[in-house]
Amino acid sequence: MDDPTAGAVCARTLTPEGEVSRFTVRWRGGRLTEVKSGLDASPGVRIIPPDHILLPAPVDLHAHGGGGIDAADLINAPGAEVTDLWCRLSLHAARSGAAVVVPALISSGPEATEIFLRRAADRPTCLPGADIPGVHLEGPYLAEKHRGAHPVDRLRPPDRAEVKRWLDVDDGALLMVTLAPELPGALDVICELTGRGRVVSCGHTGAGLDEMNRAFDAGVRHTAHLFNGMRPMHHRRPGPAAAALLRAGVTCELIGDGVHVHPEMVRMARRLKGPNWLCLVTDATSAAGLGDGEYTLGGRVVTAEGGIVRTAEGDLAGSAMTPIGVVRWAVADLAWTLDRAITAISTVPADVIGRDAGRIEPGRRADLVVVNEDLEPAATLVGGRLAWGEIPEE
Ligand SMILES: [Zn+2]
Repeated sequence: MDDPTAGAVCARTLTPEGEVSRFTVRWRGGRLTEVKSGLDASPGVRIIPPDHILLPAPVDLHAHGGGGIDAADLINAPGAEVTDLWCRLSLHAARSGAAVVVPALISSGPEATEIFLRRAADRPTCLPGADIPGVHLEGPYLAEKHRGAHPVDRLRPPDRAEVKRWLDVDDGALLMVTLAPELPGALDVICELTGRGRVVSCGHTGAGLDEMNRAFDAGVRHTAHLFNGMRPMHHRRPGPAAAALLRAGVTCELIGDGVHVHPEMVRMARRLKGPNWLCLVTDATSAAGLGDGEYTLGGRVVTAEGGIVRTAEGDLAGSAMTPIGVVRWAVADLAWTLDRAITAISTVPADVIGRDAGRIEPGRRADLVVVNEDLEPAATLVGGRLAWGEIPEE
C-alpha cells in the first residue's frame, strides 16, 4: 500500500542552519525521516528543478478568513454548509503556501462566540488543505479606545464564567485568545486560560508597562499585531509595545502586509527581540487571495481597494495578504534573507502553538512548501500529504 504521507525529494532546501543547497529529504508517517546533503538518485526520489526551493511551510497564526470566507461565516451558515466552509478555508491556506492556519474570530456576542467554538470543536478531522489545529478568539475583552475594526457593541469586560463556558464546549479547539490585560478581571481570565494550556496574547490594549508585566507574570507569552491596535510608544509612558519588546520569553507578532507597519519598525522589533521571538502574520480577511471588492469581516462589510482593506469608516480592517505573500514582502521590502522570512512565518509561529514543524530536520512534521524563483507556491505538503498543487520534477 502506498503511504500518502511518505515521500522523498531532492531539492534546493533551506536547512535549520539557513543554508540553501541541494539536499535529499525523505518523510514517512507525516514526519521527516532524513535530510541529507547532496543528490540521491535512488528510485522514488523526485528531483525538483533547481529553479525551485523546498521550504518549511508557513503557519498563519492570525487570519480572519481568506478565499472569500470570513471566519464569522462559520457561525451564521446553516449546519449542513459548515463542513464545506472549513474545507474551503483549509484549501485557501494550502493554495497560499501555508500548512497551518488558525482562523480568528473578531469580537462577537456571547452566543455567537459559543456557536463558533462548538463548530470549531466539530470541524472535520481530515481537511483537504492546510491543517486547522484550532481557533483564535481576538476579543471580545479588548480596550474600547484601541479596538480598531472590532465593533464597540460587542466588547465586554473579561468574564471568567464566560471563559469557563468556552472551555466546556470547545473540546480543545480554542488555541489562542487575544485580550487587553488592563481590563478589570483580565488576570483571572489569563490564569483560567493559561492554566488550561491555551495561548493568551495581549492586543487591542492601552496597558502600561506594569500592567503588561503582570500579564506576562500570569502566563501571557504572545502579543497580537505589535504596534497596531495598541497605545503608541512614548518615551515617558512606555506602553504595550515597549513592554512586549523588552520582555524575554514573549513573542511579538507583526502584520506582514506592507501597510500596517513601516518596514523600519519591523526591523527595529526584530533587532530587539532577536530572530526566535518575532513572527509575521497575515491578519487576512476574506479578501485574501481575491481581487478588490466588497467583503465581510466579522459579518460587517469591508472594502478591499488596491489590496488594502478598510471598514466603512475608513479604518484599516485586516489585510488581503496571503502567507506566501508575507514571505515575498519580507524578502522584497525588508530585504530579509529567505531564511529570516521563513523563521518569522514558519518556525516561530509553529513554536507559539507547539506544533513540531517549521524546520527541515528529521523528526519534525513534513509541513513543506515548494516555491518557484518568484516565491509562488507550486506544492504544499501538510504532514507529508500533498495538500495543494503538484511537486515539480526535472
Ligand atoms: Zn486585531
